[in-house]
Amino acid sequence: MKAWKLDGVGNINFYEDVAEPALAQDQVLVKVKACGICGSDVPRVYKSGAHNMPLIIGHEFSGIVEKTGDPEDKELVGKRVGIFPLIPCKKCPACLSKKYEMCSNYSYLGSRTDGGFAEYAAVPKWNLIELPNSVSFRQAAMLEPMAVAVHAMRQLEIGPDDSVLVCGAGTIGQLLIMFLLDKGIKGVYALGNKEFQKQTLLDIGLPEEHYFDVKSGDAKAWIREKTADLGVDAYFECVGRNETVEQGFDMVRAGGQVCLGGNPAGDMTLSQGNYWKILRKQLCVRGTWNSSYLGDDTEAAKDDWHYVLERIAEGNIYPEKLITHELPLSELEKGLLIMRDKKEDYIKIMVEEG
Ligand SMILES: [Zn+2]
Ligand SMILES: [Zn+2]
Repeated sequence: MKAWKLDGVGNINFYEDVAEPALAQDQVLVKVKACGICGSDVPRVYKSGAHNMPLIIGHEFSGIVEKTGDPEDKELVGKRVGIFPLIPCKKCPACLSKKYEMCSNYSYLGSRTDGGFAEYAAVPKWNLIELPNSVSFRQAAMLEPMAVAVHAMRQLEIGPDDSVLVCGAGTIGQLLIMFLLDKGIKGVYALGNKEFQKQTLLDIGLPEEHYFDVKSGDAKAWIREKTADLGVDAYFECVGRNETVEQGFDMVRAGGQVCLGGNPAGDMTLSQGNYWKILRKQLCVRGTWNSSYLGDDTEAAKDDWHYVLERIAEGNIYPEKLITHELPLSELEKGLLIMRDKKEDYIKIMVEEG
């Protein structure tokens, strides 16, 4: 089969003759139909490498079940599926309480074991989520970042009349805003710094006066003006920079909530003044990581992945609006370079079969 392999840091190669993965009894072979490039794939390829190499990267994918490891699972063949990329140990304390996103000994498709930038991938059947016909493969390849956005949203208690500020308009920030608007929250505000990101946000329904370009002036003064000098009820940090974390403590009202989601590239520090804001305003500061998925559990309908599928099927969520580039599998590297070198505008780059 055709597949991209990360052979070492900065050394990613396209092969036409990789052996099709052998299946364990609990696995199925998925014919990959679409696989998105995640922001985390860029440092994985060019800076830090993956946990095991050579490795087929790609963890945001969807496809059709082609074969099953266990003949008893034959009824899965032909099913259209999305894929939860984390393979939990199911033994650690987090797993025993079904918080698989916090598993301390997990494997992961596309970062620890072979993933989706290939014609076929071996996937444990527990990790498959069946797609309703109304959900396309491209939409399903965005289930993972959408579930990450929903997971962040559900960390805070937000009511319909609350004011919510999302800092950062990359994929997760945009998706988070989409889901907040879908919930009917009218006071959704966004901070960004790129004109094309603003255009996408307006396209998904954010009112223009609810967007502020941080390069255009004083964002703190802007949000104070929007909230009658009080500050917002909730602030989501989707950048992972020191300034954008610290400004959150300033921009929320007394008793407000801050959700930290951006992944930092280095150490983070906190000034005494901003630390005091957490104390004096009695802020609730919450982290978010990954997304909840319950597999075949009877409670599965409550997890982030099912929430997302239900909202797409309802027709209120349009993740495909964030797809700025579509590339055939053979051109994955072009997409990685667009994201690494930032010479063109992009939000989500989707790699499709072929
Ligand atoms: Zn990702
Ligand atoms: Zn575990």
